[in-house]
Amino acid sequence: MRILTVDEIKLLSPVFKNALNYHWIQCTINTLDMGGEYNSITPAGVIYFSRHIYCDDFSKNQDIDQQWTFVHEVMHAWQWQHGTYAVYKAIGLAFKFGTKYDPDAYPYDLMQGKKLTDYNIEQQASIIADYWWLDTQKLAPKKNNNKQATKSDYMDLIDQLQKSGTPISKFDQIPI
Ligand SMILES: [Zn+2]
Repeated sequence: MRILTVDEIKLLSPVFKNALNYHWIQCTINTLDMGGEYNSITPAGVIYFSRHIYCDDFSKNQDIDQQWTFVHEVMHAWQWQHGTYAVYKAIGLAFKFGTKYDPDAYPYDLMQGKKLTDYNIEQQASIIADYWWLDTQKLAPKKNNNKQATKSDYMDLIDQLQKSGTPISKFDQIPI
């Protein structure tokens, strides 16, 4: 188990600003292969990275797809810090999508006037990771059904994220 490195916080802070308590986030390896050996999962704000991608510092990782996953998982930590129980929501999604949870829960269409929290938890995490991807890699968004989408299409949602306030204390939450 480790905490975020200084450079990982530097990578994340242009996206999350003060809406995240970076020091609460812990990273470890998904040694139990929860969701499969290639799966990374963030129940209760602790990130369990797939053994295939875990590293000591994602800011130094040359594999940008793995960096995308890092930002995606940190968004699940934000959900936890803002009172969403990702595990329960994930169970709900698994019922909805059945065995096709993995590919079908993540893609999204950005809709005018829709709130960040109107999207399911995997879409939220993919939206934020795609924004980071557009901002830093200048590549087409990975999970947006519209591959032509640009950074400006995300600004309303990013604004909501950054104005979501300081996290609630993890000690107020129910441990899972
Ligand atoms: Zn996810």
